[in-house]
This record gives sequence, structure tokens and C-alpha cells, in this order.
Amino acid sequence: MNPARQNTNAYAPSAHAAMPPDALIRRYDRNGPRYTSYPTAPQFNTGFGVDDYRAAAQRANRLAAGAPLSLYVHIPFCASPCFYCGCTKVITRRPEAAGQYLQRLTREIALQAPLFAAGRSVEQLHFGGGTPTHLSPAQLGGLLDTLGRHFSLSGAAHREFSIEIDPRTLAPGQMAELAALGFNRASFGVQDFDPAVQRAVNREQSEAMVAALMESARAAGLNSLSVDLIYGLPLQTAESFGRTLDQVVRLRPDRISAYSYAHLPERFKAQRRIVTAQLPDAATKLALLRLTTERLLDAGYVHIGMDHFALPGDELARALEAGTLQRNFQGYSTRGGLDLVGLGMSAIGRTADSFSQNARELDAYYALLDAGRLAVQRGILLGKDDQVRRDVIAAVMCSGWLPYAEVEARHGIVFADYFAAELRRLAQFQDDGLVELRPQGLQVTPMGRYLLRAIAMSFDAYLPAAAAQAEEQRRFSRVI
Ligand code: SF4
Repeated sequence: MNPARQNTNAYAPSAHAAMPPDALIRRYDRNGPRYTSYPTAPQFNTGFGVDDYRAAAQRANRLAAGAPLSLYVHIPFCASPCFYCGCTKVITRRPEAAGQYLQRLTREIALQAPLFAAGRSVEQLHFGGGTPTHLSPAQLGGLLDTLGRHFSLSGAAHREFSIEIDPRTLAPGQMAELAALGFNRASFGVQDFDPAVQRAVNREQSEAMVAALMESARAAGLNSLSVDLIYGLPLQTAESFGRTLDQVVRLRPDRISAYSYAHLPERFKAQRRIVTAQLPDAATKLALLRLTTERLLDAGYVHIGMDHFALPGDELARALEAGTLQRNFQGYSTRGGLDLVGLGMSAIGRTADSFSQNARELDAYYALLDAGRLAVQRGILLGKDDQVRRDVIAAVMCSGWLPYAEVEARHGIVFADYFAAELRRLAQFQDDGLVELRPQGLQVTPMGRYLLRAIAMSFDAYLPAAAAQAEEQRRFSRVI
């Protein structure tokens, strides 16, 4: 589907959409997925195994012959736990842990690469974690060499080779080493600059530390620098978070992600160390969301969707304007549609009509590779209904324009019949000014762009009936 064709561009980057009123945000504040994939990870199951993965890779080579590839490499180690963390990670200070992991990663790369046609050049590469910079530049260099021996890494200027930076693990001088290795993008975990908040979440790093790294990243030629923030952390107030926002705006990253903290201590062990009484109440959290949005828009950032903002010249803002924005496991992207090979413990891949995920525990990941086997342990083969809904949800989340005729032509359905129940539900969204149900398609309004996932949830066939809602409350974060 090419959503650009009929996109009315109701939220062109120049248009600063007003946020929905508080009452409306509260009405749609349900727990829900972030739709970095559809179906979402909780639907992955062990019925999908290594043979399914191999078959999917063969189909991907046929369907997308010669098309570029994307690689995701998960480095799970962190030296200490941030108490808000919901990532798949291993806390360790053992110096030998990284070497042991790299041995298995090397084996996995050697097993994975032959599954993909040799002509498929890697144009997108992301090192995530955990903490990729837990590895030294020399170890990262060795890993890139291994990848380069087995895959065809693109040398094109438009390639996107990105790495997540924990500012506490890198000296500014090392940014040039990362650039020399081939990385051209970086994201920095900041979350909040307030010292009291940092102590409450066990992550202390100064503004000066981040500023020096960003400055040296720019000097080394890295671009599309991105900063992650979290609102809703313990001890945050509008005043303190306003200061953080001002500090971040001064650093002028190209992209800012401002995530809502999802307190799910029964699911994420590290979060049990958060003092619940220090968490901002619902009204304060909503005020923090509003403050974040207004402060970033006033500073010239464009609202890309959900919690993502970018400077007007950044590729994401340009893709939004052109209607070519996509989504992948890292969030918004200009190349979300590439086949993705996931490498490392818990890494998720996307090949042809399937998603796959590696073993999520270090021991299990090691055992599979030590036995000479791929580490894929679960996944999902998309059925016809999954494929229709995946396209529909992607259109809602990215371009905000869902042209019925294109969905019908692509999937052989009559949209109004297939989605009759969903369209009835969406009438309420239309009454609330979040979407327009036009004869040719569904248009998300500028205000609706702040509640994209609530709109997308209307098309999710896996969302639970009310009886199962309690379980789902534990599984997903809330909209705000
Ligand atoms: S937030 Fe990042 S650095 Fe902190 S514990 Fe989680 S994965 Fe590690």
C-alpha cells in the first residue's frame, strides 16, 4: 500500500496540532501495544520453530530478491540496573561475560547469514540492548568485522548503522572510534537530568557528560542523533521535567523520544525497587505529557506520532510529510519494511510473512548455539487476517491515512464488510475528533495523532475480551 498517494497531509510538519483535552486523553488511556509489529510479541509462540524460520527466509529471498536487509544485534549486558527498565538485559560486571557472548554471536552470525541470498546488502544495522557500549570499541569492531565477513554490509552514504549509547559507558573521544567503525547514527539514553530523579531510578549522568558525547558524535560525522526521555518517573514534577526539557532542547538532538513510564513491577523485576509513593499521580503525569509536547513543539520539533519528535529537516519529519513513514521494532523509521535478521539473545526478526524471536534467556541462547543450532525459539507465521490487519495498523500508525481501495485491491476484501464492527467502534473516535471516516478511507486528524495506538487498537484482533483485560493490564503499558 502506498499511503502517500491519497494522504491529505492533514498533519504536515508545519501544522502544530493541539493535543486532545485531558478528558479525551483519559477516555482513551487504556493499556495497549506500541505496534512496533502486528501481531505483537505476546502472540509469538513456540509452535513456530527453526524449520519455519528457514522456510520464511527462503520465501523472503524469493519475494524480495536482491532487496536490502536490516540487521538487529542485541547486546544484553548492563553494569547496573536502571530501576525503570523493562528491557531484556543481563546485569553483570564480569569482564569475561562479553567475550563469552561474542563467541556465541559469532556462531549465530555464521548460521544465519547463509539463509539470506548473498546479493542482499545490509543497509540498516542497529546495535541495541541492554548496553551495546558495554562492549569496548575494539570488541564492537571485531563484531562488525564478523558481520562484514558473513553479510554484505553496505558502504553507501544512505545506509543507517546506528547504536544505542549509555553515556556512562563511553568517553567523548570514543565517538570517533564508533564513527570509524562505520556507525553513522546514535541514540542517547537520557531519561531525565534531574539529580534526585536520577538517584531514584539508579541512573546518574550529568548534562555535561551527554553534551560532550553529542558534540563529539557530531564532530565525528554521526547524524540523526536521538535522545530518549521518560516521563512519569519517581520524583518528577512539571518544574523539574521542564528543566530537563530545556536542557535537551539546548542539546538540539535531531530526534527525541519521550516515553511514558509504564510501572509493571510484577513483570519487570528492576521496577520493584521503584518507590511507588514517589511516582507522580495520574494528573501530574498527564501534565508532564502536555508539558513535553508543548515544549518540544515550541522549540521547533515536529510531532511524528505517539511519543516521537524530530527536527523539520530530519528524515523522519520528511517521511511524515511525504507519507512514507514506516514502523519497526525501534519505533518510527524510514525503512521499516526491510526483512530484519535478529541476532543475539531475545532478538526479534521479521522475514517475509513471519516474526521470530531468539531464546530470551542467556543460558538457553548459549545452549542452542553450543549445539550448533539456530537460537530461534518462537515466532508467528502471519495468516491472511494478520496480514490485512498488519497493513491497516501500519497505515494508521504511520501515514494516518487508510485508503480502503488499496487495502481491498491488495487483500481481496470489501473493507466496509470486513471491518464493519471496527468501523462502528470508530464512530466514537470520529465524534471525538480523532478520525474522519470518509467514503474513500480513514483519516487520522492532527489531534488523533496523539492517540494513534488507541485508534490502531480498534483493528487488533488479538486484544482481549473484557474478561481477560486484567491479564493484559499487566502485559502492556498505558497509552499515557
Ligand atoms: S535502561 Fe538500558 S542501561 Fe538501564 S538497565 Fe535497562 S537496558 Fe540497561
